[in-house]
Amino acid sequence: MANGNINVSVENIFPLIKKFLYSDHEIFLRELISNATDATQKLKHLTRIGEAKIDIGNPQIEVKIDKDNKTLHIIDQGVGMSEEEVKKYINEVAFSGAEEFLEKYKDKDSKDAGIIGHFGLGFYSAFMVANKVEILTKSWKDAPAVHWTCEGTTAFTLEETDKKTDRGTEIILHINDDDKEFLEDNRISELLNKYNKFMPVPIKFGTKEK
Ligand code: ADP
Ligand code: MG
Repeated sequence: MANGNINVSVENIFPLIKKFLYSDHEIFLRELISNATDATQKLKHLTRIGEAKIDIGNPQIEVKIDKDNKTLHIIDQGVGMSEEEVKKYINEVAFSGAEEFLEKYKDKDSKDAGIIGHFGLGFYSAFMVANKVEILTKSWKDAPAVHWTCEGTTAFTLEETDKKTDRGTEIILHINDDDKEFLEDNRISELLNKYNKFMPVPIKFGTKEK
């Protein structure tokens, strides 16, 4: 179990994400699906070049709404991450990406939000719609699965878990009361159609494939 602080230099990055990007909340889904797609394509590549000697079948991405728990889940069967990789790619790389992004755009006012939406904020855009984000991930390599949680401050927890037994990553978003639209099937369906029409990895949502 590890507890830590992502970075102390920008204590208020999460309120900033919400404030400056409020009209573009929906881009979080594009970002998370794009990460899930990258992770899947990476694993396909590793098997193709013979580095990963595993049968991956036909990996897909699943999007699930849990209305009772007010959570939205994005699940992939890609490379996954070890504990070290979560520390590196989520706590350091992704966070500094978000920091840099906000640094660039913090002086713009909301009428520029449309422009902002065209740039990637990456993983941390999840905090535009969620007050708590969890990652359950298991690397394709032989490493224990890990569970990362962050409640919209710079503090996080990271621990080994047996909640995830299969390879890949599940992102769990605890949706804010103000963003309840993202717990509606129609809204998610609309976004998946908009952002992900011609994506290389099939997306399962409800009973349909997108
Ligand atoms: P970018 O996609 O531009 O690298 P992100 O902030 O979206 O930036 O993601 C940061 C990093 O976190 C990714 O480069 C990747 O290493 C890791 N990551 C994020 N989502 C996943 C995922 N679903 N599976 C595996 N790794 C992931
Ligand atoms: Mg990304």
